[in-house]
Amino acid sequence: MKTSLNDHQYILYSKQMLLTDVSEQGQLALMNAEVIVVGVGGLGQLVAQYLAASGVGQIHLIDDDKVTLSNLPRQLLFSANDIDVNKAHVAAGKLQQRNRDSKILAHSVRLAPENYLQLFNAISPQVIFDCSDNFATRQLINRIAVEQHLPLFSAAISADQGQWFAYLPESVLTNLSATNIKPHGCYHCVFPADSLLSQNCSQMGVLGPAVGIMASMQALAGMNHIIGRQVEFGVLHRFDAKRLSWSKATMPIDKHCCVCR
Ligand SMILES: [Zn+2]
Repeated sequence: MKTSLNDHQYILYSKQMLLTDVSEQGQLALMNAEVIVVGVGGLGQLVAQYLAASGVGQIHLIDDDKVTLSNLPRQLLFSANDIDVNKAHVAAGKLQQRNRDSKILAHSVRLAPENYLQLFNAISPQVIFDCSDNFATRQLINRIAVEQHLPLFSAAISADQGQWFAYLPESVLTNLSATNIKPHGCYHCVFPADSLLSQNCSQMGVLGPAVGIMASMQALAGMNHIIGRQVEFGVLHRFDAKRLSWSKATMPIDKHCCVCR
């Protein structure tokens, strides 16, 4: 566990630490954090870049996909030379080279009900970022967050409709005294497994900056949480990329939810 910064780090992270509620304490919290990013596509490659550049200590990247030509307009970490190479490996290699303070680990697997326990037994993340591109994986990550007592920062975008939310399992909530966070619904409470939400950007199309906005919100909310700032948990934020407008709604608890109840 890091308890101090060296001279290089003081300069490197000086703009973050100038924020009075971040300071050296918040920077050390980032440097001691271990996080997991599921999906290293449009959302994940940007979330991972921001986390690594901010000095987050350990970042696990999970993706079994390979870079394709049609990824390049929005997945700016990748270039034509990376086509047909695993995204987690490419991203980890590039980020590790640029960010010596972080440990970037690639897991070239598809997160599935059969393999997630093996992975989570071997690591101890304190935050999970859902950057996946499909409904089934999003449901699985939500279940993992509940089971593993992990704060979840999730984003998604399809065509011009983006959304993001932060979720804190009640098992974590009961341990967090002196906060204003109220119990709230999980992803499954709001979008049950039988919802008709199977479309993703590979079927619907998307513009690069719209993905970047969702990824930035997700990364910022997660970093705020790690630093110790208050985060608005249990609120679904929607973004209309055509009108550039936001709306939000609280995530109600489904008393019959088979995941979090
Ligand atoms: Zn639920």
